[in-house]
Amino acid sequence: MSQYNIPKTQSVAIVDKIGGTVHVNPQHPVRQPEDLALGECLVKMHCTGVCHTDFHAASGDWPLTANLPLIGGHEGVGEIVAIGKGTVDSPVKVGERVGIKWLAYSCLDCEMCLKGLEQNCVKAKLSGFTVDGTFAEYVVSWVQHVTPIPDNLDSLEAASILCAGVTVYRALKYSQTNASEWVVLPGAGGGLGHMAIQYAKFMGKRVIAIDTGKEKKELCKKLGADHWIDFKESKDIVKEIKDLTDGLGANSAIITAATGAAYSQAVDYLQCGGTLMAVGLPGEATIDASIFFTVYKSITIIGSYVGNRQDAKEAMRIASVGGVKCHYAKHPLSDIKEVYEELKEGKIAGRVVVELKKKD
Ligand code: NAD
Ligand code: ZN
Repeated sequence: MSQYNIPKTQSVAIVDKIGGTVHVNPQHPVRQPEDLALGECLVKMHCTGVCHTDFHAASGDWPLTANLPLIGGHEGVGEIVAIGKGTVDSPVKVGERVGIKWLAYSCLDCEMCLKGLEQNCVKAKLSGFTVDGTFAEYVVSWVQHVTPIPDNLDSLEAASILCAGVTVYRALKYSQTNASEWVVLPGAGGGLGHMAIQYAKFMGKRVIAIDTGKEKKELCKKLGADHWIDFKESKDIVKEIKDLTDGLGANSAIITAATGAAYSQAVDYLQCGGTLMAVGLPGEATIDASIFFTVYKSITIIGSYVGNRQDAKEAMRIASVGGVKCHYAKHPLSDIKEVYEELKEGKIAGRVVVELKKKD
């Protein structure tokens, strides 16, 4: 059935109850090749990024509930070691390196899927939320939805393209901002934000990065941000942005901070015809925007939720031609609890990628 020697048990990082702590279980069962359903594949993981979403899911601060017990993770790269018996027309094969993103499965046949909004399919399965995610040595996924990884991309570098990369790439793609126009990035020093700087520069836009602290400032500048604003030090973010943009304001804001505060001034610092892309996902906050000025300034507000398979391929292709490079620190699976704490406190510049590859 499979040329690989697949163990019966594996290490996973698991949360037993929402708000409880994440711990490593070294004896979690591995689904065996003969138990895979049609269209499913078993992926032996190399590594996985850790997204702020994983922390939201584990702490239960969203108005959606995750399946329990929860194995988080949705930025995983690994090798296909088995495909469900009887699967025909699989776009990927055993031995191929693939990525597992947040959207693990969609039906591909409903109105949402056919419109390209696969992420809004009513049958969507979400990796690390409604199905077991990538904080595991072996993960069951779906052949139609895994993302092929270009040969020239290292697994550790490819991992965070699968959520951080694809999400900000899509948000920029729909931000109605042309080359040479201004994009403001609140959250720029974090996982999504630091990728957004690079995708925006690759698309020829000018970038104003907003975040806090010396380490994130240096990272944002190194990645090509044209200007930096420290949200904890600035006395007037709106004025600073207007001054940097000839008094007009920015053309778009891609907000990846996980807090409502980062949304509050966007309508004020956008220029007429500007676009606010809502990406960061605080569970309870609302967008506090003036209705009057949203109308009067012809502002567009768009919610941007991950991306479909094509967005993932495009985001990956830009990484493979050297347009973006994830800035990450490598950790073992046993560090996940500390990584969640650091995400909560906003201490991580760029991403943390967990290495899972086990010696054979
Ligand atoms: P992260 O913690 O790595 O980065 C968030 C950054 O925001 C941090 O650097 C923090 O210092 C900064 N920040 C906090 N308050 C700020 C403020 N007022 N102004 C400017 N910056 C501020 O998190 P991440 O992994 O990049 O995820 C960010 C958010 O995006 C999370 O809520 C996550 O759930 C969400 N997300 C959304 C999608 C989507 O499809 N829309 C996909 C993935 C993640
Ligand atoms: Zn994510």
